[in-house]
Amino acid sequence: MTSTMNGSVISSEQPAREFNLLGIYNRAPMTFVRGSGAYLFDGSGKAYLDFASGIAVNALGYGDEGIRGAMEQAIGSGLIHVSNLYRTEPAERLAHALVENSFAAAVFFCNSGAEANEGAFKFARKWARSIGSNRKTGIVALRGGFHGRLFASLAATDRPSYRAPFEPLAGGVAICERTLADLDVALDGETVAALIVEPVQGEGGVRVLDAAFLRSLREITAERRIALIFDEIQCGLGRLGTFLACESFGIVPDMVTLAKPLAGGLPMGAVLVSREIGDAMAPGDHGTTFGGGPFIASVAEHVVERLSNPGLLASIRTDGIWFGEQLHSMAQRSGRVRAVRGMGYMWGIDVIEKASDVVERGWDAGLLVITAGDHTLRLLPPLIMRRADLERGLGLLEQALTS
Ligand code: PLP
Repeated sequence: MTSTMNGSVISSEQPAREFNLLGIYNRAPMTFVRGSGAYLFDGSGKAYLDFASGIAVNALGYGDEGIRGAMEQAIGSGLIHVSNLYRTEPAERLAHALVENSFAAAVFFCNSGAEANEGAFKFARKWARSIGSNRKTGIVALRGGFHGRLFASLAATDRPSYRAPFEPLAGGVAICERTLADLDVALDGETVAALIVEPVQGEGGVRVLDAAFLRSLREITAERRIALIFDEIQCGLGRLGTFLACESFGIVPDMVTLAKPLAGGLPMGAVLVSREIGDAMAPGDHGTTFGGGPFIASVAEHVVERLSNPGLLASIRTDGIWFGEQLHSMAQRSGRVRAVRGMGYMWGIDVIEKASDVVERGWDAGLLVITAGDHTLRLLPPLIMRRADLERGLGLLEQALTS
């Protein structure tokens, strides 16, 4: 036992420094000290094949030479931060690349996924007021969705245990069942500004929403002049085998929010907006100190170039189909899986035991997977992973499932 400065006593079996981090995570016992490609290494040198990618962040894996090169080049300019009061080339080039690769006409940069969604809600309200009345302010979200942990994004997040301790959350945000009948009522054109949808609900169990359902939502929102926001923070930027997830469903939303892999592991979010919504925004309407700084934007420019590469996207589509087939066969062989869902490099498998038990056995086997609910495992391999490593990871997963 050791006494800390504030007099409390901690167990000497635990690394004391961990206790200086706010206790809001149940951290795994290993400490990672190095990464290379699709592998992380702990202090003892043990390798872990990564099927989690830092929760969909490390799309290009670890120690990527291109990211390192982009960082070195960016640091050469001496510019890490320049205020948004001034112009910088990397932010403008990055915005241009995102616009060129999407439906969008303009981009807002921020620092995280939740912040991107909060921004999108504000943009939707400003636009909706400009075309409707002061009553057109409501935000509708879907059952099973996750949109972040700030007050409005949490209000749109369907996780009672994340919400309850912090209520009251931001007002004017409602969660609706995922049925057209319920949404037809909830999406009142007079009072609703935006509908936010995660086309593949990641935290909510890796649920791929039906393309026909999403198309109907597009039709209803367009008719009633409600902004359709696709939250692609987890499923966008190549993960489904298309640059934006909305392309996989054949839908053009009014806004798309991005974050996780955008800057190769550096914190960056973005809101892609249509011309009409962009035109409703004016100087002073929103802001952020760090968003789109020259260093991070230079790194993101490199990431966007890599993740929009048609060859990479085609491999994710083909290898993703193969990966799904392998998961289905494993499910049948093992008798320990109830369901397999997903597309591209985003899969969920419902297991017959506590998913966290399988996660822990994965650590023993040298595999990192995460959960999406009590009985669902979530697999988010780095997008650079090809068949050999996918196959190896599947072997380790089967070992963890059946041991
Ligand atoms: N939206 C989705 C779909 C997410 O998966 C996440 C994070 O897991 C967020 C929003 C929130 O992003 P952040 O943790 O960067 O605030």
